[in-house]
Amino acid sequence: MEDNDLKNLPGVGPATANKLKNSGFTTPEAISVTPPKEISEKTGIGFNTVLNIVKAAREKLGVDFITAEDLWKKRQDMLRCSIGSNNLNELMGGGIETQAMTELVGEYGVGKTQICLSLCVRVQLQTEEGGLDGTAVYIDTEGTFIPERVYQIAESLGLDPHKTLGNIFLARAYNTSHQELLTDHLYKFCPENNVKLVVVDSMIGHFRGEYVGRENLSERQQKLNSQLHKLLRLTEAYNLSVVITNQVQANPTAFFGDPNRPAGGNVMAHASTHRVYLRKGGKGTRIATVIDSPYLPEEKVRFKITEKGVEDAEED
Ligand code: ADP
Ligand code: MG
Repeated sequence: MEDNDLKNLPGVGPATANKLKNSGFTTPEAISVTPPKEISEKTGIGFNTVLNIVKAAREKLGVDFITAEDLWKKRQDMLRCSIGSNNLNELMGGGIETQAMTELVGEYGVGKTQICLSLCVRVQLQTEEGGLDGTAVYIDTEGTFIPERVYQIAESLGLDPHKTLGNIFLARAYNTSHQELLTDHLYKFCPENNVKLVVVDSMIGHFRGEYVGRENLSERQQKLNSQLHKLLRLTEAYNLSVVITNQVQANPTAFFGDPNRPAGGNVMAHASTHRVYLRKGGKGTRIATVIDSPYLPEEKVRFKITEKGVEDAEED
């Protein structure tokens, strides 16, 4: 068993360990990925002491250099969770990947939350059935998590709905700083609860609401960037999937094609491993395209939302 107790880090006594824990830094992993300035501000521990603690945490984890061979081996452990629609699975190279952050982008009502709910159910399936044999965490910023809908999906897949609901851990995030606290806490929570999927729905909502106006944009982007990187690092640390949702915003400079673009600018674009752009098709279907992926082709597939969650839709 991994030794996660902060008190065993060199230079960290019980009082310091408590300050760290009370501010949400509960594991060496969380400490090693958070900027020292942020830790110092949140805990009230002096900056130089924090630098030493961060150094000790990184040394303990051995996060500085690994060989490319080690990385290759680690990526052999990558797993894929079925989404429910074969079209979508193929689009994503076999399903939603672990060790990666997948971003679902699209306008209101297109089905982002529906895909997330469906994944929360399917992640619990055994690996032979397309699941990851794990539990799910759902960070809900908009209050759109609907347990009845999860019940319906589980039941129509022939699963025990109550057991399924019991394996989804919900947290309602009330603002960006609360969202950040929850993110920090994931470094403790995920390994303790066999979490294989973390959903943040929506990643950007509170940021857009709280940081209004150009003068606040750089601070917003900086905070967003920090949270995104913590989530990305989490996927690697515990071989799990992170799925975030994002909204589109009107792009007044687009003369051709789709006038919408994902919110969150470059920070969001660069942090996500895969971006899936969703839009409405004819006859209630939905169209998904992968954009900006390092290795998935930019294909277009069609799916629909049904009582089972998401399923394939026929081409017109
Ligand atoms: P977003 O999160 O992108 O704003 P949602 O994921 O909330 O959008 O998707 C809402 C859509 O899902 C609606 O069009 C609704 O009709 C559809 N939907 C929700 N539940 C079901 C269901 N049980 N069967 C079919 N469609 C459903
Ligand atoms: Mg939604």
